[in-house]
Amino acid sequence: MKYIVIIGDGMADLPIPELGGKTILQAVETPNMDYLAKHGRTGLAVTVPEGFPPGSDVANMSVFGYDPAVYYTGRSPLEALSMGVSLHSNELAFRTNLITIGNADGTVGADGPELSDAYIVDYSGGHISSKEAKELIEAVDKELGTGKFKFYPGISYRHLLVVQDNYGKDLAFTPPHDITGKKASDYFPKGNEGNNENDSKTAQTYSDMMAASYHILKDHPVNKKRIAEGKLPANCIWFWGQGNAPKFELFEKLHHKTGAVISAVDLLKGIGVAAGLDVIEVEGATGFLDTNYKGKADAAMEALKTKDFVFVHIEAPDECGHLGNYKLKMQAVDDLDLKIVAPLLEYAKSLDEPCQILVMPDHPTPVALKTHTCDPVPFVLYDTREENADNVSVYDEESVKSGSLGTVYAPKLISLMIESENEPSENE
Ligand SMILES: [Zn+2]
Repeated sequence: MKYIVIIGDGMADLPIPELGGKTILQAVETPNMDYLAKHGRTGLAVTVPEGFPPGSDVANMSVFGYDPAVYYTGRSPLEALSMGVSLHSNELAFRTNLITIGNADGTVGADGPELSDAYIVDYSGGHISSKEAKELIEAVDKELGTGKFKFYPGISYRHLLVVQDNYGKDLAFTPPHDITGKKASDYFPKGNEGNNENDSKTAQTYSDMMAASYHILKDHPVNKKRIAEGKLPANCIWFWGQGNAPKFELFEKLHHKTGAVISAVDLLKGIGVAAGLDVIEVEGATGFLDTNYKGKADAAMEALKTKDFVFVHIEAPDECGHLGNYKLKMQAVDDLDLKIVAPLLEYAKSLDEPCQILVMPDHPTPVALKTHTCDPVPFVLYDTREENADNVSVYDEESVKSGSLGTVYAPKLISLMIESENEPSENE
């Protein structure tokens, strides 16, 4: 038995007025995912346990079979792992976004407002390239890096700060993708339980660093060039998602199966590293609409020659959801169906052993909200033996509610797949 898990990040949505009240999954023709639904089993998966924020970290851990209630230590530590940065016990990792700040109307002047008066224009610094970002993060590290704080460049707008002595571990930070268009100072870090004096001072240190980064970045040659090209400058940094080193059980030890992960995103690669899965790099994997879909599908097929499981993660639907652009998100879902699900379905059927395919989002990223929600997500679980099909005619948020698997706690899905390996014909 082989196993393919396809994650359409943020793919689930709400009814969209411009689409006649349909969701993205309902509005886009997805013949391949629909085939899986018709010939497989469907249901709703709870990926975000109660009391957790609906972050991609929590939700994807669930999809990989790791209960966040047991294994979660924060988002950035997982990304650090994938960047090859290991954390000592008293070291804290922070996600450090390169963002764009500017005026309330979304314009970004050459001499815009200080961070304390500015608004969040874009959480991604205009989806800045990794190459440009590296220069900017190095400039920030040169000025703000000390014995206590060290910056590491990552992918696109997603970078890393490692801090000694758990400094600021319990403060509350806000993900910048949740506050697009909002006044930055309303979301500066603060103490979790009241603002005791010590917490306030620590929080101030982080706000000050973010504010100082504006002066390092706004006139940096990389940003001057971006502005000249009509692109958004990545003119500030923003901290969030802090945590200590993760402590995962190895996937192989838990399930007696080997596996690999294919993703453009450090967080997903980090989950892979923490789980002891092979992390496969695909050239041209960008985490956006221009990603190398064919390269990712090919890599998945190659991985299955030696591995039992392959996780294929597609980031674009989530990014389009955060942009609030339903047309782009429709494109992302169309691409996922045609360029990932179709070839992998064909491959699964061509194998001379049975193969299961699980397709699901990690969480919804509704375009109307531009952020994640906690709602259960639709999933389809297909087995090439095609027994016990639900005959649900399409795959979307509504149709799966009549599926035979009902509502499932997502961390149990991997075990569910493995358990059904030898007993596909249980008819109850
Ligand atoms: Zn997201």
